[in-house]
Amino acid sequence: MELLEQYILQKGTVLPGNVLKVDAFLNHQIDPVLMQALGQAFSERFKKTGITKIVTIESSGIAPAVFAGLEMGVPVIFARKKKSVTLQDHLYTSTVYSYTKKESNDISVSKAFLTNEDTILIIDDFLANGQAAIGLLEIAEQAGAKVAGIGIVIEKSFQQGRSLLEKTGIPVYSLARIASLENEQIEFIRED
Ligand code: 5GP
Repeated sequence: MELLEQYILQKGTVLPGNVLKVDAFLNHQIDPVLMQALGQAFSERFKKTGITKIVTIESSGIAPAVFAGLEMGVPVIFARKKKSVTLQDHLYTSTVYSYTKKESNDISVSKAFLTNEDTILIIDDFLANGQAAIGLLEIAEQAGAKVAGIGIVIEKSFQQGRSLLEKTGIPVYSLARIASLENEQIEFIRED
């Protein structure tokens, strides 16, 4: 998506460890005009797939997920992160290792909001090694919900997340795909 690539080039910075900092429009300050465009792009791709709910993870997935939910007219659930949520039987839970924070968090979703009648779209801000998305897939599985797709704002295609997720057969749709961040240069993969 050209608009998103422009934002990344103009406002993103590359940090050591192949981390792209996008605090200026996605991870700290949020640009609503861009978020609306992201929401429209996700909706355009998935609107015919019978989505009943969007599921994301706090906190940086929430903004793009809400705009997609607005476009598609469906509720948005964000999985909560806590150090430990064991022994709480009203929750679906999974454990996610964070690429940027180098720590594990339990994530949880209340059983009240996700059931086997739901078809969900998973949305997240970044796809790196795929751990966050896999945690959300585990939660969907516990609920018996169908997963129609995974929508990612920024995919770092040089990490293993996409190939891991593609093995599930679930469509992965990324609005920007980064081939490399080497030497602080941002290189995109362009499909058209
Ligand atoms: P994964 O679980 O796919 O390894 O990593 C995805 C999660 O890690 C995202 O939810 C995001 O919060 C964080 N993340 C991974 N790589 C980056 C990055 O380069 N920049 C930022 N800002 N967050 C990242």
